[in-house]
Amino acid sequence: MNKDRLTDKQKTAEPEFATRLIHFGSELCKQTGAASIPIYQASTFHHFDIHNPPEFDYSRSGNPTRQVLEEYIAALEGGCRGFAFSSGMAAISAAFFMLSAGDHVICTEDVYGGTYRLLTTILNRMNIETTFVDMTDLDQVKAALRPNTKAVYIETPSNPTLKITDIPAVATWAKSHGLLTMVDNTFMTPYHQKPVELGVDIVLHSATKFLGGHSDVLGGLAVVANEQLGTELKQIQNGLGNVLGVQDSWLLIRGMKTLQARMEASERGAIRLANWLTGRADVEKVYYPGLPNHPGRDIHEKQSRGYGAVVSFDVGSGDKAKRLLSRVRIPIVAVSLGAVESILSYPAMMSHAAMPREVRLERGITDGLVRYSVGLEAVEDIITDLEQALDTD
Ligand SMILES: *Cc1c(COP(=O)(O)O)cnc(C)c1O
Repeated sequence: MNKDRLTDKQKTAEPEFATRLIHFGSELCKQTGAASIPIYQASTFHHFDIHNPPEFDYSRSGNPTRQVLEEYIAALEGGCRGFAFSSGMAAISAAFFMLSAGDHVICTEDVYGGTYRLLTTILNRMNIETTFVDMTDLDQVKAALRPNTKAVYIETPSNPTLKITDIPAVATWAKSHGLLTMVDNTFMTPYHQKPVELGVDIVLHSATKFLGGHSDVLGGLAVVANEQLGTELKQIQNGLGNVLGVQDSWLLIRGMKTLQARMEASERGAIRLANWLTGRADVEKVYYPGLPNHPGRDIHEKQSRGYGAVVSFDVGSGDKAKRLLSRVRIPIVAVSLGAVESILSYPAMMSHAAMPREVRLERGITDGLVRYSVGLEAVEDIITDLEQALDTD
């Protein structure tokens, strides 16, 4: 933002989130004033003066386009430093590389499937052990502590049953034991929830979802709370080399500018949809943190300023779910969420297909459960469409 045009009072006031999304500090090209930052499509940088190494040297270690994105997400999350990776899983993997062989992690049991696979099929081979607990219950978290516990990994709301973990409670307890805390903030985004302000050390994103917002780019972002963690994660990012490319960095910046407008509109739709589904006799259960009977609603409201755009619901059986999926006309039927188009997913056969059926059922991921990520279509049309897909004629 060009502060010269502001009064003294305006200069000192922290602008609202919507303003900071557009005027985050590095949004303009410093050389030309171009309204969009250039895509520096270069792998390497000339040393004009061999005695003075340039700021950017090689794009794995740093690229001006990627750096703007990294500064952008750090500013939005209220963190110290940001990092952009080739996918959400690349960001999450990099964060787990903070740990060493022999360390133990306490992780929420209904963690994203890819994170579950990383912990149970890859990091276990590096001798990093994980205990999965129901994080809605702080006693279970405490009971999982071992002498070699080093980190606590939180995801709230969880996927697909939108369970809520009390972030400040877990973070405070973890801090008292010297543990690193990480939150996957993909579902809420910094518009709704800022884990760093709640005492968390590392915030992670699949930027593929709401931050990108258009189902056209795969990316991951991480934000750390302090310099020390920033130095460590920088070394890991440079060492692993799983950085985000420049075209995708630019696309993410472009998508993120409309984050608030998209989140607000999709959330309005999600609230309407959740209420409408609650009133239907053929829908057995509706999961949405904004519903009055949601078990984690009070905790969620203390740590987030909204409920998000994802509504899960149970139509009672696998046959009914498949019938619904084959009859809807508005949402794309796909894995993923958080886009301008509505996305209807079927966890039992998509994201959670690899989970043993008994474990899946125990976690409420029944054969009748579907997950609706509300996009920007008119909610009246979304509801009319679901009505025709659910009605038995
Ligand atoms: C999609 C997703 C991920 C993984 O991100 P990718 O960009 O697909 O690698 C991690 N966490 C959550 C909550 C997600 O929805």
